[in-house]
Amino acid sequence: MIENQKPTALITIFGATGDLANRKLYPSLYHLYKKDKLDQKFAVIGVARRELMPDQFQEQVRQSILEHVGTNENLDEFVSHFYYHSLDVSNTEHYHDLKNLVDELDAHYQLNGNRVFYLAMAPQFFGTIAESLYKQQLKSDNGFNRLVIEKPFGHDYPSAKELNDHIRLAFSEDEIYRIDHYLGKEMVQNIEVIRFANAIFEPLWNNRFISNIQVTSSETLGVEDRGRYYEGSGALRDMVQNHMLQMVALLAMEPPIRLNTNEIRSEKVKVLRALRPLEGDEISNSFVRGQYNAGVSKGKQVKSYREEEHVDSNSNTETFVAGKIMIDNFRWAGVPIYIRTGKRLTEKSTKIVVQFKDIPMNLYMKTEETLNPNLLVIHIQPDEGITLHLNVKKSGQFVETTPVKLNFSNKSVDGMNTPEAYEKLLYDCLRGDATNFAHWDEVALSWTYVDPIAKAWEQTKESSFPNYSSGSMGPDEADKLLEKDGFHWWPVTDLDVENC
Ligand code: NAP
Repeated sequence: MIENQKPTALITIFGATGDLANRKLYPSLYHLYKKDKLDQKFAVIGVARRELMPDQFQEQVRQSILEHVGTNENLDEFVSHFYYHSLDVSNTEHYHDLKNLVDELDAHYQLNGNRVFYLAMAPQFFGTIAESLYKQQLKSDNGFNRLVIEKPFGHDYPSAKELNDHIRLAFSEDEIYRIDHYLGKEMVQNIEVIRFANAIFEPLWNNRFISNIQVTSSETLGVEDRGRYYEGSGALRDMVQNHMLQMVALLAMEPPIRLNTNEIRSEKVKVLRALRPLEGDEISNSFVRGQYNAGVSKGKQVKSYREEEHVDSNSNTETFVAGKIMIDNFRWAGVPIYIRTGKRLTEKSTKIVVQFKDIPMNLYMKTEETLNPNLLVIHIQPDEGITLHLNVKKSGQFVETTPVKLNFSNKSVDGMNTPEAYEKLLYDCLRGDATNFAHWDEVALSWTYVDPIAKAWEQTKESSFPNYSSGSMGPDEADKLLEKDGFHWWPVTDLDVENC
């Protein structure tokens, strides 16, 4: 059940001096505060190792808001709710003093024992922090206790399970909120509404009418300063195991019997259970990896992945993945879902293209020509909207067809200001709505699907690396993956809202 719409809580952020806290969490809390979605009775404790005086921490939060939100409205009042506690999370003895501060603020702000513990820290600390919070009695017995965990949740299924088992000793599944920030994006949440609130799509949403689905999430940036992390991860673990498979689950799930957390999650889990597992040659037939070479990105010459900081000059890590996913159930049998994601690609964009099957007979073209297929394009980011590609009559004497695009863009709606994913997810967590967070079953099934691919790629060095130029849309093999099936990737730039 969703709780109070204006929740009161003590939010303890571990990793309070880090990048995520400064770029996303403080601005998101400020937005909630300004929109009056936070009760005046709230407090935030920032936790990290470095020694900071309370006013230094408040100044850091103030700077984060000025830089990322750009306003100082009620800022003094907002930052007055922020406290700081210096602590090394791996030292269990340090939690005693933190507990004193937590209890003190709980009483001072009358927070009714409602506690959110946000772990914005390196994943190796997740288990230790959860255990210490439990053992040092920082969980309250009178209000709610919620543990928010950032990605990555494990490196593969065994490590994810070990982490989950560790956390579950301290927090129940209901108390754990595993962040997948794609699930906080407006248009990802809109997938469900487009499907289940429109009579025209759901009857067609199956293998009788859809020929294939394409999900692209491309970045223009390279690995930046995350070389060390990325070397141990790669695009498959960083993007496919979580964000891409979550989008696939939302696209392919059955309508839930009710729009509540358990029912939606249970339908998504069924999709993930139906993913056709890959082994042996099926892996190289269905998945393609790439690594960026030097090239021109957004008009600037950029270096190759292997030349980036903290990256092995002979690295076997993939910065691009394209794959063909099959779902073995009645609705989707025979419909390929193609995914691709990578760094240093042509443009920053996340889009879903649903390609409908050709009509049975073409009355309007010469026999060797085909009509443009109908496409439904869901623009996730940076544009937000949907476009439906249809064929209509070309004006003039003769009956000829021409493609048109019916376009809805969030930007064009007056006053529309889509909240950031983190803002929505923080608010969901405060209200106790876990729908847009990943359940352990989803995490486990996603790793189970991805692990054989990751293993195969670790065991065989890819001799063609680097195999795509920065600024391109990935290696040629990604195109061949679809050509084998008689399809092609719909170019993301042609599908941009401005080009519609
Ligand atoms: P970061 O900038 O490196 O920050 C790490 C934070 O942890 C710092 O506040 C650091 O402060 C603190 N810390 C490190 N060791 C500590 C210890 N032993 N005890 C107490 N505090 C300690 O990392 P980040 O980029 O914010 O990322 C945090 C988490 O979010 C990671 O799991 C990451 O994968 C995930 N994430 C980040 C982003 C992003 O945009 N940054 C996006 C998605 C997911 P001190 O040095 O003062 O201790």
